[in-house]
Amino acid sequence: GGAAEPPPKLVLDLERLAHVPTEKAGPLQRYTATIQSQRGDYNGKVLSIRQDDLRTLAVIYDQSPSVLTEQLISWGVLGNDARRAVQSEDS
Ligand code: C2E
Ligand code: C2E
Ligand code: C2E
Repeated sequence: GGAAEPPPKLVLDLERLAHVPTEKAGPLQRYTATIQSQRGDYNGKVLSIRQDDLRTLAVIYDQSPSVLTEQLISWGVLGNDARRAVQSEDS
């Protein structure tokens, strides 16, 4: 995309996330719970997260940010437009 266009936000669907089996989503569930606690943001159905946090999560999951993003899209936790948010990060 063009440099003038801001990347789309990474918006996690917390209701979908709660239904992903813990053995897959456990680390992400704990990470988002921590962010909600730090923000005092407990009642949302969605949570906007930092681009930096996706990179941290990719380290936790031992995957590249783009592979992790595909996994989150397949779980229904991220929307398809999240791909563009991550492409703008990969070089
Ligand atoms: P902090 O990083 O020192 O940010 C202090 C405050 O600046 C935040 O208070 C928020 O009001 C604002 N802020 C900082 N970065 C952004 C941003 O990208 N967008 C928006 N809209 N506001 C921003 P808040 O929300 O009460 O968070 C308190 C602390 O909790 C933050 O201190 C940070 O240490 C942690 N935190 C909250 N959300 C996140 C997150 O998504 N990722 C990470 N890594 N830490 C977070
Ligand atoms: P948006 O970022 O497109 O968010 C649309 C709606 O998704 C929000 O409506 C809210 O219901 C939900 N949402 C998105 N991210 C979060 C999240 O991290 N936590 C929770 N609990 N809900 C979330 P809302 O609140 O009426 O906000 C409308 C618009 O106002 C937002 O559109 C955004 O453009 C702006 N806005 C609201 N709060 C903030 C903020 O703290 N920082 C910034 N920069 N913009 C904000
Ligand atoms: P947003 O609030 O619309 O912020 C968009 C981008 O502007 C952020 O992308 C970040 O690059 C920059 N930005 C906004 N506020 C600050 C700030 O106080 N300090 C710094 N250093 N940069 C800032 P980013 O980091 O990818 O975050 C994406 C979205 O995640 C934010 O959209 C906001 O909805 C949410 N978010 C991130 N960090 C926090 C936080 O600490 N508290 C809250 N409440 N929301 C956050």
